[in-house]
Amino acid sequence: MNNKRDTSIRLADRDSCTGCSACASVCPSGCITIVDDSEGFLQPEIDASKCVQCHKCEATCPVISPQPKSLPGETKAYAIINNNEEIRLSSSSGGVFHALADYIISNGGVVFGARFDEDFLGVHHDYTESREGIAPFMRSKYLQSRTEESFRECREFLNQGRQVLYSGTPCQIAGLLKMLGRKYENLLTVDLICHGVPSPGVWRKYLKWVAKCKKVTEVNFRNKEYGWNNFQISIGFSDGSRLSEGQTDNRYFRGFLRNVFLRRSCYHCMYRTSDRVSDLTIADYWGADSLCPEMFDNKGTSIVLVHSAEGHNILNKLSNSLTVKEQSIGNAVLCNQGANGENPISSRRNRYFFFHGLGLQSLADYVAAHDAPVVRVRRKIKKVWRRVK
Ligand SMILES: Cc1cc2nc3c(=O)[nH]c(=O)nc-3n(C[C@H](O)[C@H](O)[C@H](O)COP(=O)(O)OP(=O)(O)OC[C@H]3O[C@@H](n4cnc5c(N)ncnc54)[C@H](O)[C@@H]3O)c2cc1C
Repeated sequence: MNNKRDTSIRLADRDSCTGCSACASVCPSGCITIVDDSEGFLQPEIDASKCVQCHKCEATCPVISPQPKSLPGETKAYAIINNNEEIRLSSSSGGVFHALADYIISNGGVVFGARFDEDFLGVHHDYTESREGIAPFMRSKYLQSRTEESFRECREFLNQGRQVLYSGTPCQIAGLLKMLGRKYENLLTVDLICHGVPSPGVWRKYLKWVAKCKKVTEVNFRNKEYGWNNFQISIGFSDGSRLSEGQTDNRYFRGFLRNVFLRRSCYHCMYRTSDRVSDLTIADYWGADSLCPEMFDNKGTSIVLVHSAEGHNILNKLSNSLTVKEQSIGNAVLCNQGANGENPISSRRNRYFFFHGLGLQSLADYVAAHDAPVVRVRRKIKKVWRRVK
């Protein structure tokens, strides 16, 4: 954290701060702004000349003063698919988020989620009160989202008595709950099993590099053209051309999966555990083909962890739009790298940021150069095979 001029305020240090922005949302004097650090991540910066020393930011920070989690043993797991195939194919996994959002909006509520900026160079949290407004929130955007005004807007809707669904990463939900400071019966929180968030700065550099001078018209990190298990990253351009690469072929995605440019706090995240602060956790049911074959057709299967009575309540109301099958917690997270414990910090991370800063040409070479020759050959064969298929 940066303190402009001296102040006695001490927020979470740079290694632990999640960038959730709860501190800026709660500050009564507007002295905290969220700025980009040298690695392209969001960090709070305090202007001490405006600070009124109320220390609300410290009390609200979900790292300094953690949000209580669900009790172990309360959570139940379900394999779920949305009965509407079109919605499922447009979602990252089984399309559970759309069903939840649709229910809330059909009952006069408001839904918060993460959407791309117009130029696709960043992701921010926004809200919708209409069914058409759900689409931009669908599908995972694998970079950290800016929560901006959304915590305060959420509180306003809650105080008006509106039903609100707020979705985000586990640390964002913890930040929201800390900022709200009390339980709202009309709030439903949905988090993700989260592998960690990559640097928005690295994404910006990557997209500009890959687009050259063309305008980007679409980014889909979870294109299911070749199946959910074999998803593609596709980027559309204004001249009609399209880049489409498998998860291990795409340089940005490879760096993400190998933990090369995740946020520092993601390597020891306190909210990425099996007990949660949210009502529901949504995720991919990796391993469904063998663990629950009756719910697998390679179009996307979700796993949903339900932590509260509110979570159970809403799932019961969605029995017409979802197919649901209970799973053991063990199976639910067995094949999911993002489910539990710590992300091993990649030795490449520090070297990458130290030697290359946010240089993207070097990222491309860096990630590629660190593959074993056998991996590179295997990737080339797969690429050719996909072309001839
Ligand atoms: C950074 C990141 C890491 C993830 N890591 C894993 C993992 O390790 N294992 C796993 O099983 N699942 C992971 N997921 C979740 C998974 O990709 C799907 O989002 C989830 O399975 C829900 O899919 P769905 O089909 O129900 O709905 P979708 O329509 O795909 O759901 C979209 C939901 O994700 C939210 N969202 C999208 N991008 C972001 C973002 N950048 N920040 C905050 N919220 C966002 C939207 O607000 C919406 O609620 C991750 C998601 C993100 C964004």
